[in-house]
Amino acid sequence: MSWRGDPVWLADVLRDAGLRVLEHDGWRDRGHGDFADIRGVLCHHTAGGGRNDWRIVQNGRPDLPGPLAQLVLEKDGTYRVIAAGVCWHAGRGSWPGWPTNNANYHTIGIEAVSRGDGSDWTPAQLDAYKRGCAAILRRIGRTASDCVAHREYSHEGKIDPAGIDMDEFRAEVQALIDGEDAPMSAAEVKQIQDFITGFCGPIGSDVKDIREQLCGLNERDANQYGGWPQLGGRTVVDALAEVLSRLEKLEA
Ligand SMILES: [Zn+2]
Repeated sequence: MSWRGDPVWLADVLRDAGLRVLEHDGWRDRGHGDFADIRGVLCHHTAGGGRNDWRIVQNGRPDLPGPLAQLVLEKDGTYRVIAAGVCWHAGRGSWPGWPTNNANYHTIGIEAVSRGDGSDWTPAQLDAYKRGCAAILRRIGRTASDCVAHREYSHEGKIDPAGIDMDEFRAEVQALIDGEDAPMSAAEVKQIQDFITGFCGPIGSDVKDIREQLCGLNERDANQYGGWPQLGGRTVVDALAEVLSRLEKLEA
């Protein structure tokens, strides 16, 4: 099973995965024609590393008209949605299950903002990279084996995305695909119920438990909470208020 046609759902699918998304004006109509069927995601780095890297991806270079990828992934983990049509990012190459030298018409390109030496990835960016790939692959009905580095596909000596171990990357992408996909087994549900019961007491006593967490243990009277010894007999709210007032004094 593959998705047929343009991925006009890109922004929604990324947002639904909890990712920050910037939709560029006209993205749904941008591209070098329409997709055949989409079989995977091709991962790149921009080899720039700055805030304006997206401009080249959207507008192109003197030798290559834009758009050059459907998505740009910023260092803070935000996805810029640039195009829904075919983009020039793959070049010549091959990968099992993809048409040789024709990946532009069958893969979504993600250009991640990076200098290109593997040293400047941020944790937020790497996390969003995996989550974005997982969300797209799920949408098109593919597994992490169709999440491919440009350097793995390319017959033209590409090195991107530098510094990312793709076997590790794919394992984490697959775990995300499975995690979101797999329904919980009865045994897992029971395990969670037992944990909650062990932690909070039998169901029904949870409201009292939350009150105690905030206000301190109550051993005698249902309406009186004595604060926490660790907080000098204060409730959580009173202790926080004390911390804030001391901080304000420090700043003044
Ligand atoms: Zn590339």
